[in-house]
Amino acid sequence: MTDQRNYRDSLDFDEVRWGTHCVDCYPGNCPMRVFVKDGKIVREEQSGTLPIIEDGVPDYNPMGCLQGACWHQSLDGPERIAFPLKRAGERGEGKWERISWQQALDEIADSMLDAIHDHGPRSIVREGSPETAVVGPVGRFFNVLGGFELDLNGAIGDFNPGVYLSFGKQQIESSADDWFHSQVILFWHSNPVYTRIPFYHFMSEARYNGCEIVNISPDINPSHTHADYQVVVKPASDTALALAMVQVMFEENIADWEFVREQTDLGLLIRCDTNRYLRACDLKSDGREDQLYQWDPQAGLTEADRGTLKLNGRKIALEGRFRVKLADGSEVEVRPVCDALREQVDTLYTPERQQEITGVHPDTVRMLARKVASRRTNIMHGMNACKIYHGDLIERAMCLVLAVSGNWGRKGTGIRCWAAGLLDGSMLAMGKNKPGVQAAAQILENREKMLGNLKQMDPTLTTELAMAELTKGPRGILGQMSESKGRDTPVAAQSIPAFWWYYQVDGRDRWNTKSWGDESLGRSIDDYVTEAIDKGWWDGLDHPRTEEVPQVLIECGGNTLRRTRGGKKALMKSLWPKLKTIVDIDFRMTQTASHADYFLPAAQHYEKVSFAITCPQVLNLTLGDKVVEPLGEAKEEWQIFSDLLAAIGERAKARKLAEYTDPEGRVRRYEDLWSQFTMDGYYKNQEVVADEQIRDSVIAGTLPDGTTLETLRETGFVRFIDWGIMPGALSQASPFFANETHTPFRNHLEAGDPFPTYSRRAQFYIDHEWFIEAGEQLPVHKPNPAMGGDYPLGISSGHNRWSVHSVNHLNKTVLGTHRGTPTVLVNPDDARARGVEDDDLIRVFNDVSEFRSRARVAAGVSPGQIISYNGWEPMQYPGWSGANEIEPGMVKWSGFSGGYGHLNYSFLGWQPAPVDRWTRCDFELADG
Ligand code: SF4
Repeated sequence: MTDQRNYRDSLDFDEVRWGTHCVDCYPGNCPMRVFVKDGKIVREEQSGTLPIIEDGVPDYNPMGCLQGACWHQSLDGPERIAFPLKRAGERGEGKWERISWQQALDEIADSMLDAIHDHGPRSIVREGSPETAVVGPVGRFFNVLGGFELDLNGAIGDFNPGVYLSFGKQQIESSADDWFHSQVILFWHSNPVYTRIPFYHFMSEARYNGCEIVNISPDINPSHTHADYQVVVKPASDTALALAMVQVMFEENIADWEFVREQTDLGLLIRCDTNRYLRACDLKSDGREDQLYQWDPQAGLTEADRGTLKLNGRKIALEGRFRVKLADGSEVEVRPVCDALREQVDTLYTPERQQEITGVHPDTVRMLARKVASRRTNIMHGMNACKIYHGDLIERAMCLVLAVSGNWGRKGTGIRCWAAGLLDGSMLAMGKNKPGVQAAAQILENREKMLGNLKQMDPTLTTELAMAELTKGPRGILGQMSESKGRDTPVAAQSIPAFWWYYQVDGRDRWNTKSWGDESLGRSIDDYVTEAIDKGWWDGLDHPRTEEVPQVLIECGGNTLRRTRGGKKALMKSLWPKLKTIVDIDFRMTQTASHADYFLPAAQHYEKVSFAITCPQVLNLTLGDKVVEPLGEAKEEWQIFSDLLAAIGERAKARKLAEYTDPEGRVRRYEDLWSQFTMDGYYKNQEVVADEQIRDSVIAGTLPDGTTLETLRETGFVRFIDWGIMPGALSQASPFFANETHTPFRNHLEAGDPFPTYSRRAQFYIDHEWFIEAGEQLPVHKPNPAMGGDYPLGISSGHNRWSVHSVNHLNKTVLGTHRGTPTVLVNPDDARARGVEDDDLIRVFNDVSEFRSRARVAAGVSPGQIISYNGWEPMQYPGWSGANEIEPGMVKWSGFSGGYGHLNYSFLGWQPAPVDRWTRCDFELADG
């Protein structure tokens, strides 16, 4: 009876609200019912209320994961800190004193005033964060202050360079229910059983519907359990496998030739003498530099249309050599890209030749190629290949497989990365300086005018392409126009994390270690960086330089000591001593917080209003409501930054400081900062901001008329009705259907809309001078460099099943679902050779550093491989040193290239990003 009563008591509640978890559990968006009893959350449940979108396709229900089902436990878990703290000992010593909010804000404000006065506002720095609850407040705070922000994608390494090189964009995501239409799904550099828990059922359902699943990986990872085929490929050799599949499709004439001709650059002509595209400026002195050519068997040399992909039945040549006359009267031989590609794959990547590289049997390659060429194929890709040194080549080759088999723009096809957009109000509400929809409408009108002007100048531009032009560079044209309006729309300086590590950490030393990089190149990274800067490819973005020493670091929504490659050791040695003040804003004690000077307690996700990342995969706006009051003295981030600006105003007044000038000559007055942030007090809290974001989204046309925060509180989520204006949404290049699954690239395939690449096609031939120098104009296999030193093992990673990054790893229920301590998976033979048994403590080491962890001896791990799933909080390891300590964080030279069509920075776009997978290392039995 007692047990029964306890159980019944646990189900008792007096209120139920909508909640979700606004961390980067991409894409998340699970609507949860959160039950409250006497002002405390007692449990949460999946809502199960999502509708069917397309007839015959399963719905999204139930949506949820084990972390979400016990989220409320971290409200008052042991890691929760609910009061402002100030360091009382050395950084990282663990000694703190509890202080008042007023003391904390005044002291931090004073340190910021010192930094601005002595070094300028850009000496106040933050890394980007994907945590949606903080993106608005911290972003607006830095805009108002004129501080310095680092691009999120570069910081976390979630940029897919090969996908971007191929399509001119990387935010490509179908709706999850579209996977049901797939006939073949390749798990390729992904492990969706771990990483796509709420959406995995669509893959199972597709399989019941006849789809075949192929798991391609070096290890037998958990996703193989539900696959029809396991293809064991040697580490980082996937480029060769993909190119061999392309070779088979060519050889057996099963390629989708019409698709190849229209959608890709394989029909464009390249010069045999220079390996560069044949350009109009080669043929006539006043010819365009970006006008490229095709060979039409009837008409001969033909300009490739920059405004449409459609050939209207013309069968342009994909093979052969032709002679053309240049402007100076000389003649050169040209041939289609496809001709060069065929020669390359026939020479280097037949199924038999690739076996030497990949270990995959030629029959398997032929089987895969035939399946992919004849069925709607979806590559469940993710953020793994992009973290391999030559991951750009791997991704380019994967995209080429899809191109040659005609696998995008049709339901159930394509490649999955990540994308965000749709909640246009989040951008509009943070960019305006007056309350109300009129101010948002004015921004939209200005944007339309700018897009219109661009399209008038170049009628071949679609809205997607025009928007890409507007957002290129440090600010994009949009940002520059905002900036010229003085106080109205303040902006922060934006930069690329690679330059941060290069100038302010120890990236320069690491990246120039020749044996850790691509040894086949004749040049050092310094050569590339210097050339890139000299040529102005990163103008305005190559900061903060060595002399621009950062003074104040604000960490909010991130955990840089956990996630940065090189970890604590690298940052403590090079960056930490320069920083006068480190402020960590979080709801819990993290590795970074433990090494900060001040800890400001933030509200947890159930203690403030926020939204999950809005994205094509779910297509809903999902509410994370304020279910309970913040614990102790915790505050929502909006309040914290608002209060901090008020304190800066007060302290400036007390110190008789009136104004400062940022490096662009803009004068900012201390007494105005709070008013700008809050629009004279209108944005008084996150609730008001959230409501404004919804109303502005309605004006932008992405949410149904009449949607407000109150209507959202009735349903918990609302489906978007259109793509809106954000680049990540426009990248989908598809119509928005209310009653259909979403497949990206339909506009490219069905309407012939050009791609935002240099060639205006899906581009597999990159004739940038650096790519030709490295022999990478076409995707080629290159061996993975010995990053970290000459050691016999390689460490790989991926998201842990038991976490959303490190945010749940101290939750007691989550800990109870596994061994409760960090582990690395090792192969039994490798373990035996080192005298290691299951659960032994081992030391993993290389030339960079070391960390200690328990060994999980697992037969599914390849010999020579160790796996450290990502997300453990470093303080869970002995010595508080996590697996990122041994990662050198190499950055490939090609990331610094620029000045070439789509190889130009835009926010979250083209940039150098660090890699870590298959870092060399070894392990041994550790003491303890
Ligand atoms: Fe869904 Fe993310 Fe919450 Fe899990 S943590 S239930 S995936 S929103």
